[in-house]
Amino acid sequence: MKQLFVNGQVFTGTGVMRSAFAEENGKFIAVGSTEEILSLKEENDQVIDLANRFVCAGFIDSHMHLVNYGNVMGCCNLMEHTTSVADIQQALRDFIAAEKIPAGSWVRGRGWNQDYFVDNHDLPTRAQLDAVSTEHPICITRCCGHSLVVNSKALEVLGIDTVEKIDGGAYDLATGAFFDSAMTLVYARLPQPDRAEIKKMILRACKGLNALGVTGSHTDDLCAFENTPWQEVIAAYHELEAENKLTVRVYEQSQLTTPEALREFLAAGYKTGVGSDMFKIGPLKLLGDGSLGARTAYMRKGYADQPDERGLAIFTQEQFDEMICLAHENGMQIAIHAIGDGILDRILLSYEKAFALCPREDHRSGIVHVQLTRPEQLKKMQRLNLHAYIQSIFLDYDINIVEARAGKELASTSYAFHTLKQMGLHVSNGTDCPVEMPRALHGIQCAVTRCTLSGKGPYRPEEAMDVSEALLSYTAESAHASFDENVKGKIQPGMLADFVVLSDSPFRVPANKISAIQVKKTFLGGACVYER
Ligand SMILES: [Zn+2]
Repeated sequence: MKQLFVNGQVFTGTGVMRSAFAEENGKFIAVGSTEEILSLKEENDQVIDLANRFVCAGFIDSHMHLVNYGNVMGCCNLMEHTTSVADIQQALRDFIAAEKIPAGSWVRGRGWNQDYFVDNHDLPTRAQLDAVSTEHPICITRCCGHSLVVNSKALEVLGIDTVEKIDGGAYDLATGAFFDSAMTLVYARLPQPDRAEIKKMILRACKGLNALGVTGSHTDDLCAFENTPWQEVIAAYHELEAENKLTVRVYEQSQLTTPEALREFLAAGYKTGVGSDMFKIGPLKLLGDGSLGARTAYMRKGYADQPDERGLAIFTQEQFDEMICLAHENGMQIAIHAIGDGILDRILLSYEKAFALCPREDHRSGIVHVQLTRPEQLKKMQRLNLHAYIQSIFLDYDINIVEARAGKELASTSYAFHTLKQMGLHVSNGTDCPVEMPRALHGIQCAVTRCTLSGKGPYRPEEAMDVSEALLSYTAESAHASFDENVKGKIQPGMLADFVVLSDSPFRVPANKISAIQVKKTFLGGACVYER
């Protein structure tokens, strides 16, 4: 039985708009005009009228944290409660009451951003969380995931009463704030989920993603929990796949932090490309530095508004050299988080060495975020043929701080999304969810307008993408990043029938209204997985 979708505005991703397409056995089998597609109709075929709605390939978020998203969905959501500490306190109190969390049990929150506070821009403190509860251990993680704050009960339960020096991190008992690697001190001692709980998180996340039109996720999950081995996370995915319950195609950006862990992973038979259309091993993922918001992005020079601070580098040059070389010579694709230009220097040098030592044509290794960049770094990325995993939605917040933090000069050559594309590099989009909600259409609006969602800007409008380019960054380019350019990401015969039906065409609404477009239906392999 075929499904014939007709009378739509179909963005095929191949440069032409069509009005109809046919699906059979999970794949597109024909694309054309409504008459052409209707002429294929046989007895049991179903005809679906798209009612002139816009259709494109399902969104593929090329860098996010799916398990973590599912986990956050079960925590107190602080993303919408960031106007003041009082707001956060109230949200936590409400959450404790609504979830009936007993004294002694952990209360987790995620998503606040002090830069959005209306009264001051200070981090929340231990004392302010004590005002919420001294009975519950509380841990709230900043939207970027690079800092957290705990209350006194949490420090007591965790048994943390002295400050030790931590490589790549810092913490302060007086304020209860923990940064980067030091967050491990907290996370490692939190109750760890078992496989059944991880599966629940994955299913929750898949549902949330489908509702936003997302059918594919390049996701960094293996380090989602400090004490749960990566094997459990992979097993959770495998079980869900076998149970036919996965509704998002997963490409695992496998974060392994030591050469030993990477060797163990390889010895277990895992490597880029191993797996199926539903769950596949992706690149080795490494974290280079922190975030701009938390001032932990690693800068070549100091922060413009705090010149003695350069941020945090998570790996030394030697450590990068070893990990990148080991992964590259073993046939792994590599994706490395870099926000500051200082860490990007290091990563580019390590890539250069590894590629020279072991040349490989189509490695598709790359840089995740690619935010603060100098022109010669972009040229080097071009020479090394690196993939750029951008998050255009980050402009929504970063426009407010980029000049103050990075300084005028560096800000004037950063977030160079269009330049990267012009240089012939592949540029795929994503949200780093749960840093941002996985709303592709919000990211597309920011990529096109170079403004915040509320209209502040534009910041470097010469780096804007056009609507087509932005849509492709969320579909075909993400597919390219998983070596799937002939498998998905476009509406073309032979490709997986993953697609979304939108309430409006992003080409027809004003650019600053793209984020208001609704996802009406989401299809995965020809089956409807979301409908509103
Ligand atoms: Zn990330």
